[in-house]
Amino acid sequence: MPNKTLNAKLLWMQFEDVLAPRLGLTVWDRAVYSYLLRHSLVVGKLRLHFAVMSVARDLGLSNGPVRQAVRRLDELGALRLLERSKTGHLVEMRLPEQIRALRPGKNGASGAAGAAGEPSASKLDSTDFLKTWALRKTIHDRERSACFYCLRRTPANVQCLDHVVPRARFGRNSYRNLVSSCMECNTRKGDRPAPDFLRTLYRQGRLTPAELDGRLRALKDLAAGKLRPSL
Ligand SMILES: [Zn+2]
Repeated sequence: MPNKTLNAKLLWMQFEDVLAPRLGLTVWDRAVYSYLLRHSLVVGKLRLHFAVMSVARDLGLSNGPVRQAVRRLDELGALRLLERSKTGHLVEMRLPEQIRALRPGKNGASGAAGAAGEPSASKLDSTDFLKTWALRKTIHDRERSACFYCLRRTPANVQCLDHVVPRARFGRNSYRNLVSSCMECNTRKGDRPAPDFLRTLYRQGRLTPAELDGRLRALKDLAAGKLRPSL
C-alpha cells in the first residue's frame, strides 16, 4: 500500500529473487517494472500516468519493447493497465508481495504449478500459461526454442510469449492462444491477425512457400488444441 513505508531492502530482494525469475521476466520487463515502481509506489503513489515514449527515452530503449513489457507486466499481474490513450498509459502498480501468481499456495510460490501430475483436458484448457515461469517454459519447449512465426532459433533471453489473438476474450492465456516467438516478430505482429503477419513474412522472403503453408496449418492446429505443451 502506498502509505506504508516501503522496506527497500526487502523489496529489492523480492524483485531480484522472486518476482523476476518466477514470472520469467525479460531484461526489458525488469527495466520497465523497476522504472515504473520507482515513479509510483516508491514515492508513495499507487497510480502512474506515463507516455511510452518518455519511458523508452529514459531507459534508452525503443518504444516497441517498452509497450510489450507493459502489456506483459499487465498480463502477469505485476501492474494493472487502467487506461490507454493518446496521452499515455495509466497504470496501478503492484509490489511483488501483492502479485497473485507469487503468493504462497496460489499456483506460484508453491513451486512449478501444473508441472506435477497429468492434467485433464478441461484443466489444460482452463490453465493460465502466463501464470508461472514453469508454465511459460512449457510453451517455449513446445516450439523447441524456435520462433513460431519466422522459425528462427530464439535464445532464452530474446524469446517471449505472443498472444496469437491479442484480445481474445476467452482463454487468452491458454496454450491454444500462446506461442513462443522472437522479440522482433512479437513487436512487428502487434495487433494484426496472425495469418496476415505470416503472409508478410513470406512476402519479405523470410518464409518459403512450404514454410508459410506449414505455419498456417500450425495456426489451425493450435486453435484446435492439437499443439499441447507437455506438462
Ligand atoms: Zn520471429
